Amino acid sequence: MYERLGASFKVENWWPAESEFEIMIGAILTQQTTWENVEKVMTDLKANGLLDVDSLVRIDNDTLEEIVMPAGFYRQKASRIKGLAEYIKVHYDSNPLAIMNRPLEEARRELLSIRGIGEETADSMLLFAGHKPKFVAASYVSRILKRTGILDSEDYDEIQRYVESIVPPKPEIYAKFYALLIQLAKTHCKARPICGGCPLERECAFSVRKGE
Ligand code: SF4
Repeated sequence: MYERLGASFKVENWWPAESEFEIMIGAILTQQTTWENVEKVMTDLKANGLLDVDSLVRIDNDTLEEIVMPAGFYRQKASRIKGLAEYIKVHYDSNPLAIMNRPLEEARRELLSIRGIGEETADSMLLFAGHKPKFVAASYVSRILKRTGILDSEDYDEIQRYVESIVPPKPEIYAKFYALLIQLAKTHCKARPICGGCPLERECAFSVRKGE
């Protein structure tokens, strides 16, 4: 699957960012929205000099909410971003990399203890900002694994354990595999799948059943 998708999609520089903290903020913004909306917000945060911990702690809530608005759920997301910045300021002297430098499971537990950071967000931070071998078991991944007949589960931990048990634990491989699956979900394996021309069409259980 990795190789087949890799031959069909280009996903290099899939999460463009100038710093690890930018990726951490992006991981919060990207919850339940499109990347295009996240980009608008990131551009505005950058233009306002807000892509560092101390500036985010200082900024007032109303201004931050206004900037975050295009990404949706703006009150919640602004509050989560501020919460993360405040946590890093208090516990890590405003150095976001200090959490990522901790051993993987300790860093994960700590991220999950911060208000508003769930498993998918924490794992995106660990993989893309921390370069840790943690697979992000997003809902798109569950949809594809289920339709292809590989794994019938919607349980985040089960999907993550399964992928991590068969894919070599290298951050660059997990990151590329995740990006390839997202690309497949955007182009073919949408809510209503477009199986014609899908790189997995020949082996996919859903597509084979449909052709019977
Ligand atoms: S063949 Fe269809 S159902 Fe299977 S992965 Fe591709 S788009 Fe999804």
